[in-house]
Amino acid sequence: MIYDVILIGSGLATLVTAAKLSDNKKILVITKDELKQSSSSLAQGGIAAVMSPDDHWKYHYEDTLKAGHYYNDRKAISMLVRRAQTEINILINEGMTFDREDGQMALGMEGAHSKRRILHAGGDATGRELVRHFQKKVCGQSNITIVEHEPVHTLHIEDGYCIGVFTEKSHYYGRHTVLASGGCGGLYRFSSNPDENRGDGIALAYRAGATLKDLEFIQFHPTLLHRDGKAFGLVSEAVRGEGGKLIDEKGKAVMDHHPLKDLAPRDIVAQTIDMKLKKGSQVFLDITNISNFSKRFPTIHHNCVKAFGYQPSLLPVAPGAHFQLGGVAVNENSETSIPNLYAIGEVACTGVHGANRLASNSLLEILVYGSRLAAHLNNEGEGNIQGGFFPPFKSKKTIKVTLPSIQEIQRNHEEGAGIVRCRKELEKCMNWCAQYLEKVSEEKLHLYERDTIEKINMLRTSFLILSAASERRESLGVHMRSDTKEIGQREFIG
Ligand SMILES: Cc1cc2nc3c(=O)[nH]c(=O)nc-3n(C[C@H](O)[C@H](O)[C@H](O)COP(=O)(O)OP(=O)(O)OC[C@H]3O[C@@H](n4cnc5c(N)ncnc54)[C@H](O)[C@@H]3O)c2cc1C
Repeated sequence: MIYDVILIGSGLATLVTAAKLSDNKKILVITKDELKQSSSSLAQGGIAAVMSPDDHWKYHYEDTLKAGHYYNDRKAISMLVRRAQTEINILINEGMTFDREDGQMALGMEGAHSKRRILHAGGDATGRELVRHFQKKVCGQSNITIVEHEPVHTLHIEDGYCIGVFTEKSHYYGRHTVLASGGCGGLYRFSSNPDENRGDGIALAYRAGATLKDLEFIQFHPTLLHRDGKAFGLVSEAVRGEGGKLIDEKGKAVMDHHPLKDLAPRDIVAQTIDMKLKKGSQVFLDITNISNFSKRFPTIHHNCVKAFGYQPSLLPVAPGAHFQLGGVAVNENSETSIPNLYAIGEVACTGVHGANRLASNSLLEILVYGSRLAAHLNNEGEGNIQGGFFPPFKSKKTIKVTLPSIQEIQRNHEEGAGIVRCRKELEKCMNWCAQYLEKVSEEKLHLYERDTIEKINMLRTSFLILSAASERRESLGVHMRSDTKEIGQREFIG
């Protein structure tokens, strides 16, 4: 069987693309865990789009560029923000319901946005509602096969073309393969992502020879709810948009030094909180000013009750790994440097986010790029695969190797690629990964047990991120170096 399109992962990037592909395409969705397991389902705040008469795509463009420290790809932002309203209107016409107030679309405010432009659904369950909307379109379609609990470990490259994927159990052939495996928050112990998102896509693309870009840029969300060192989900920036204030244990405002105060860009808020915590302070998000908190933010309310047994008015918060800004380099049609291999969603680097992502631009990026990718693939021909000549899959697990535990890999990664980095620590952590990577044969992953493959992927992705962070000697956006005074702020050039 040769599929027209193989989609790796089951988050929104996959669902949006699959839903927009023609019915005559034979599609395989193959995912590591259950279909519903993804960062997408957890997204809270919403989707950024210009929907009100006092807003304009030019403001959204400028906010994105400014938050990204002018490191963004301007053509990519322009495409994103100009297309936003059309994509949202398509969604609404299809029956997706966004929250409304007094009959009007309820538009939320988030950090570094100059206007209210965040559409949300189910209060703070935008991701869950979007996933539900697209799952309805994808599940049960006769042309779409869904395979769960089967992580892809290798991309099949033949004569420089991607022709499918290998998993532990099988291999699948595809005329077009789309990497949509999400980010790498699971490389950190303290993260907003599901555990499964450990950056597999980066390791897969690296081994296939695809161009990777900007891996050093990992966004830390400033406000993960925590108790006893354990994260209990995210406290969306929309909470600060509705009047939540960051204070320390003495009640002193944390963000007063910045002109945008609590709504300063994410990198700045995360770095400020990190510094305070390292000095021994505690940081809380004071929500006493927000009326109807449990109604407006039901998911966060639920997480608070889970953590504390009640709804506190001061939420203890700390920064945690949240979003991978770099990834597999793609063009406007999500094409990678390898023919017939595409990347979309958090695993891809479109250049939109620059050195720091503007809140709620990620879901928008998926909508815009997903539509474009589907349109592109709908126009593509048969590709260059001929059927019937592939050997049956054989896999005897023969290689045994002792690798560190997942927690040890996470600890090492955090030490090197945390919020603040320095050359000495980065090199130490890279060497730690390298000593294990030298012991394994990455071109023969089918000969390892699943747990070992998981660790090899983690070590490889961690090594690549640490190397990228070591190479960028300046501080820029989310990439903060303590051992150099160089600041890589880019100027606005028209
Ligand atoms: C708590 C939280 C809140 C957020 N809030 C917002 C928000 O309000 N607005 C916004 O714009 N963005 C938000 N984001 C970011 C946004 O949700 C994500 O960037 C986006 O949903 C990523 O979608 P994706 O499809 O690329 O990846 P995901 O949704 O993470 O899906 C990746 C999929 O790939 C699978 N996978 C991984 N490795 C493999 C493998 N080897 N083989 C097969 N499958 C694999 C995973 O299991 C998963 O199903 C939030 C993120 C989090 C975690």
